[in-house]
Amino acid sequence: MRTQRQVVDYSLQKRALLRDVHNGKVGTLEVCDASPYLKNAARFHGEPTDDRCPVCRRDNLTLVHYIYGDELKQSAGQARKLAELPVLAMTLSEFQVFVVEVCQSCAWNHLIEQYLLGRDALNTDELDQDGAVAASASGRHRETGSSSHRREGRQ
Ligand SMILES: [Zn+2]
Repeated sequence: MRTQRQVVDYSLQKRALLRDVHNGKVGTLEVCDASPYLKNAARFHGEPTDDRCPVCRRDNLTLVHYIYGDELKQSAGQARKLAELPVLAMTLSEFQVFVVEVCQSCAWNHLIEQYLLGRDALNTDELDQDGAVAASASGRHRETGSSSHRREGRQ
């Protein structure tokens, strides 16, 4: 998604933890502890991947996207399908996405990434474009276009 920003990547932490699991320093029971809630989220809202579970290698990993933010109100903390995120990004100014990988066989789970989504980034892009268009003296068409675009986004 082009509006992703402040991306935090947790792959280093994940690799370090998996190294300890494979060395036997950390037990699989400690890391394969997905709650029933997380497993349900994986089943109903998860994004399937082609990546094998790094712990049991029996099943492919599923990515669960959790959303947080004041504007979400009662939806904050819920899992959403990946396809729903661009729609939310058009209607909300800012919200946080946490991506968790889950194995539905052994219950391995780990936070892999977090980032911000929302219209704030889109507006910045539009302002930049409007500025460039205004400089070339064809701003009026451009303004009409972007305001109807914003109306669509609210629906
Ligand atoms: Zn597994």
